[in-house]
Amino acid sequence: MSVQAIAGEPAEERLVGRSMLRGLMCRCPRCGDGRMYSGYLKVAPVCPDCGEELHHQRADDAPPYVVIFIVGHVVISALLAVEVAYHPPVWLHMALWLPLTIIMSLALLPPVKGALIGMQWALRMHGFGGESDELPSKDGGLSPARPE
Ligand SMILES: [Zn+2]
Repeated sequence: MSVQAIAGEPAEERLVGRSMLRGLMCRCPRCGDGRMYSGYLKVAPVCPDCGEELHHQRADDAPPYVVIFIVGHVVISALLAVEVAYHPPVWLHMALWLPLTIIMSLALLPPVKGALIGMQWALRMHGFGGESDELPSKDGGLSPARPE
């Protein structure tokens, strides 16, 4: 991973673990104080505290994948353990695991998305490093990495 310094300025150190932890707390990965979100999952375009541009984030589908992975392992493990131990009726399973799945998913989405954005910021992905988020095309020009 190369770190580009801007015209004589030393490159800012970006620790991946610290940035992800700050994102996990739904805080700006740079300062750790400003709120990352302006809504439930809407990322603020800039940090209200330090002014870091957060609109470069491209979390896309990654947060739901990670949340499904976590919630699936927790809920299915617990469901199987309860079934083997107590053999409860199906209605009790439904009453337990459906709300738990929904609550866990909604609760985990913001911190997981924040951690992924923190990782993107630390690794200078998608414009977080100062360069535009474009790929060179076959004819040598630049084309958008994500066609709109
Ligand atoms: Zn900040």
